[in-house]
Amino acid sequence: KKIQIALDGPAGAGKSTIAKQLAARLDYVYIDTGAMYRAVTLAALEQSLDLNNGETLGELMKSLDIRLTPGENGQRVFIGDREVTDAIRSIEITNNVSFVARQKEVRAALVTAQRKLAERGGIVMDGRDIGTVVLPDAELKVFLTATVEERAARRHRENIARGMDSDITILQEEIALRDKRDSEREVSPLRQADDALYLDTTEMTIDEVVVRLMELAEG
Ligand code: C5P
Repeated sequence: KKIQIALDGPAGAGKSTIAKQLAARLDYVYIDTGAMYRAVTLAALEQSLDLNNGETLGELMKSLDIRLTPGENGQRVFIGDREVTDAIRSIEITNNVSFVARQKEVRAALVTAQRKLAERGGIVMDGRDIGTVVLPDAELKVFLTATVEERAARRHRENIARGMDSDITILQEEIALRDKRDSEREVSPLRQADDALYLDTTEMTIDEVVVRLMELAEG
């Protein structure tokens, strides 16, 4: 049976890497919900909208056509026909996305879209509120985390590997701030579902985590 797998946790816990590999091995579809919040943020910034105005963003949601398609290196993201897969990873988007994600009008529209994508099962969905709000009946729920030091160190290594400038202290501050905003917001804060498996990956390799989740998904 093709199930729904919900993967939640703070920024940089390795959710997307793990979700991608898990989906590939199970022949499931990987859905990165953070990318949807990022796409909304990109559109809002481009239109110079007030990120703290829920009504304005609610209006934007009515006309915004966010599309996700599976690609070779994971999920590709489009707004209409325009590909924004790389554009949504900018620092400006990363630092502003928590404000957009706080608006209930934005969340309502995206949650509806996410439920629809997950309807037929065979999906690994990663985010912050998948196990608690989007898919409360998911057959497997995992809350992935790691210390903020370890999460910053992983990001740092990724940046270096991509030939980007990287400052581990700044990364640590950014991650801590985003977690704080995501955990303290009123609507659907980042939180572990009661029936989710808590997995601290600080001392685990990606492969160990994926193998562990494979066993749980197939077991
Ligand atoms: O996963 P990623 O770091 O790309 O998510 C970007 C932001 O989108 C998060 O910091 C959070 O504010 C928001 N988000 C959310 N709910 C989700 C997924 C992401 O609020 N399900």
